[in-house]
Amino acid sequence: MTEEMKPVCEIDPMPFFCGSGNACFTACCRDLNQALTPYDILRMKNNLGIDSKTFLRRYTSRHFGPDSGLPVVSFTSDPAFGHACPFVTESGCSVYQDRPGSCRMYPLARAISRSRATGKIREYFALIEEDHCMGFGKNTGQTVRQWLDSQDVDLHNHYNDQLIALISLKNRMMPGKLEGGHADIFYTALYDLDTFKKQIFEQDLLGPIVLPVPVVDDIRTRDEALFELGIQWLKYQIFGIEMTWS
Ligand code: SF4
Ligand code: SF4
Repeated sequence: MTEEMKPVCEIDPMPFFCGSGNACFTACCRDLNQALTPYDILRMKNNLGIDSKTFLRRYTSRHFGPDSGLPVVSFTSDPAFGHACPFVTESGCSVYQDRPGSCRMYPLARAISRSRATGKIREYFALIEEDHCMGFGKNTGQTVRQWLDSQDVDLHNHYNDQLIALISLKNRMMPGKLEGGHADIFYTALYDLDTFKKQIFEQDLLGPIVLPVPVVDDIRTRDEALFELGIQWLKYQIFGIEMTWS
């Protein structure tokens, strides 16, 4: 497979269309090597109505980065079926409304930089042209920004950027390998949210830390709030940064 990367701006035209009319339809979902973020898992397990532990066991595999010690979670795919995604069907993606951020972004790659002074994020994009993908060269009349909006990807980026910020913090404060206990709590607090919730409400995980009532209500009912608490919990547990509530 050959690929070419071309930097683009949000106002540039997006000469790309993906749909069932393309002969390659679902080809990209049948040859996967795809890392999943915590927010990807949150959306898909809720789409399927199962808890995070069941989702992770049924559909994913995990390893820890040899240098960083950070968990890397990917779709489990069967080489006998060409590494197909567990959710691909003849008619397309069976979890389309809640598909991962990387599926939404393709064929765009996104990188960010964050201002140390203001915390403001700047985004950079590049088009990845792979020879198996026949979606290129179509005049859709859309700009890159309009195409991104049509993929409803900003919410994924919002939560994924919080993970990136946490990993950057880890790389600055603890450049070596995250070891045993820390690697495990990183995985549970972000990827296995329903277990994290049980540990908070049934096993007194937070100990003497008293959460304000609105935060308790929020994390009981919204996985997004639980994920954000998980980020704070890891900063506190691993780097000793005090937890705060607004
Ligand atoms: S290979 Fe490209 S055009 Fe074909 S289904 Fe995948 S993203 Fe769409
Ligand atoms: S989640 Fe859906 S869009 Fe993403 S690889 Fe699987 S089938 Fe394709």
